Amino acid sequence: MDIENIKKKISDISDTIIENKEYLTELDRQIGDADHGYNMAKGFTAVKIILEDDFKSVKELINKIAMTLISNVGGASGPLYGSFFMKFAQGLDDSDNINKKQFADAFSKGLDGVIMRGKAQINDKTMVDVLEPVSKALYEDKPYSEIVKLAKEKMEDTKEMKARKGRASYLGDRSIGHIDPGACSSYLMIETLMGDLD
Ligand code: ADP
Ligand code: MG
Ligand code: MG
Repeated sequence: MDIENIKKKISDISDTIIENKEYLTELDRQIGDADHGYNMAKGFTAVKIILEDDFKSVKELINKIAMTLISNVGGASGPLYGSFFMKFAQGLDDSDNINKKQFADAFSKGLDGVIMRGKAQINDKTMVDVLEPVSKALYEDKPYSEIVKLAKEKMEDTKEMKARKGRASYLGDRSIGHIDPGACSSYLMIETLMGDLD
């Protein structure tokens, strides 16, 4: 995939997040402070603006996205998604395109960034519950359509989990019965990115 295709994908991801602003915020109202959709929509509105710039490499583009998310999303998710994109960029060379193997490697570095910053593990009811299985499936070279299906299941599985990280963890058992907003935003991004890639 070259820079122009990636820009189009990032633009689509931004639109998906902006369209789901109310829904993500509603999820966060159940177990958090009702701002996840607003935080994310604000960040991705800013991302859409930087997509008009010229970039020499995919690395430079993804780095700029990371910085934009860090300075515009806020909350817990801002630095976490910021770390994802920053580490993702660090996993790339200076070329103007990216192949499937490089994508899998960079995605895994991005996941490491989220875990390094947030210290969440599988079953803590966070975005990691979606990102980690997706990273593994990318390594196994599964078809993208299967990865999207997997991401959806993993997002839905967060409903029965008790939150052990982030704001939702303050609720203890009362966090059970609701989908995690960050797991949902991760799923939405993955679905938009990979839904038509096979
Ligand atoms: P805040 O909780 O500060 O209001 P958001 O509402 O934007 O931030 O984001 C909440 C989401 O961030 C959660 O649904 C969860 O997926 C994710 N999250 C929170 N803490 C962590 C963490 N330590 N590790 C990974 N993800 C986390
Ligand atoms: Mg919140
Ligand atoms: Mg908040």
